Amino acid sequence: MKKISVLISILFLAQSLAMAEMVMYNTKTGKFHKLTCKWAKQCTVNCIKIDKQKAKAKGGIPCKVCGG
Ligand SMILES: [Zn+2]
Repeated sequence: MKKISVLISILFLAQSLAMAEMVMYNTKTGKFHKLTCKWAKQCTVNCIKIDKQKAKAKGGIPCKVCGG
């Protein structure tokens, strides 16, 4: 039984990691975009791919086009 509960907790952990939404964060303007946003695709120089929570923690502003 103990093995099963360990396995379940690992699965939950893996799921929560997968759930973390990744955004394209522009370090110059402080705006962040969904990865599918056309502006995210055009942003190649100052953009880094981080999770949304981190982008917000950095004071990121959601894009007006895609909503972040
Ligand atoms: Zn956008």
